[in-house]
Amino acid sequence: MEVVQYKCPNCGGNLEYQADQQNFGCEYCLSRFTEAEIKEIFNNNENINLDENVAEKIVKEEQEFEEHTNLYSCPNCGAEIMAEDTTSATFCYYCHNPVILTGRLSGDYKPSKIIPFNFDKHKAEELFKQWCKKKWFLPDDFKSNQQLEKMAGVYVPFWIANCTIKANMNAIGKKTRSWVAGNYKYTETKEFSVIRRASVFMEGIPADGSSKIDDKLMEAIEPFNYDELKSFSMSFLSGFFADKYDVDKSEVFPRIKNRAVDGCDRLIRSTMTGYSSLHVTNSDISILKTDWNYILLPVWFMTYKYKDKSYSFVINGQTYKLAGKPPLSIPKLLRFCGILTAILTLILTIGGYFFS
Ligand SMILES: [Zn+2]
Ligand SMILES: [Zn+2]
Repeated sequence: MEVVQYKCPNCGGNLEYQADQQNFGCEYCLSRFTEAEIKEIFNNNENINLDENVAEKIVKEEQEFEEHTNLYSCPNCGAEIMAEDTTSATFCYYCHNPVILTGRLSGDYKPSKIIPFNFDKHKAEELFKQWCKKKWFLPDDFKSNQQLEKMAGVYVPFWIANCTIKANMNAIGKKTRSWVAGNYKYTETKEFSVIRRASVFMEGIPADGSSKIDDKLMEAIEPFNYDELKSFSMSFLSGFFADKYDVDKSEVFPRIKNRAVDGCDRLIRSTMTGYSSLHVTNSDISILKTDWNYILLPVWFMTYKYKDKSYSFVINGQTYKLAGKPPLSIPKLLRFCGILTAILTLILTIGGYFFS
């Protein structure tokens, strides 16, 4: 008997047949498929053969990427920073320690698309200074030139998923109407079996692929406008740094799956309208196939160390949106409280004069 090794249609890992459950399971992203689903997915895929010229172009681009990308590592915090070979990285933008060149990066890390930076460092510094003006009690050196030098243009790695979803939902819908005739009030209840069988395609679900960047900080500067995505070219990296992804697509898949299933559930429920009450009795939503795009998004990034704590400040390099939590200068705060107490004491003393 011929043994076929199927690859997971969602993450590319090997699928194992699980005899007890009579289905195929992926141990990487935890997807499950019935035999019928696997046959359907792979029969559809067989017809897709990559054009020879396209395949050749991809190999060439990956080679170029390998030859012109340097990888730097931070011995202090473990960050891995990539840069084009004409741009050298000297310090780590997370912890400010010197970094060391560790070699080239494999072509597998070549992104397919990129949103280029919309503005330069001068503009980023200007935005940062304006932001500082509205903040109280900042430590003096927070906005110093020395600190501004640590601001870096960083391309953040993101996984963007397009999911083909199969959904079955059953519900019981009720329609009631009441009327009065003579001395009686009548109520009529009609019960409907509501069935939805849908094939849904959801496009562009994002999740970042960097474990070092705070997810909340990234969400705070969303959204990015994906209409401006361009095919990746090495020239975009010149003068900037990029984070190498360290969260694989199989690890990201559960996050993507939650968003896709929630979105699909809402979509299908929104079609079950016109009933006075609705009770969903069965909902089965599964992702049959995921196409991935590995992309880079532009972020101006700065960290600041104050009293052993690290503060991060970010600007969306496309939309100018800012986010960050400023440090609080303790001496400045105490001085302010001191002045406030003095004023209060003075007021109370004056009050004392009047009322005594
Ligand atoms: Zn998988
Ligand atoms: Zn570091």
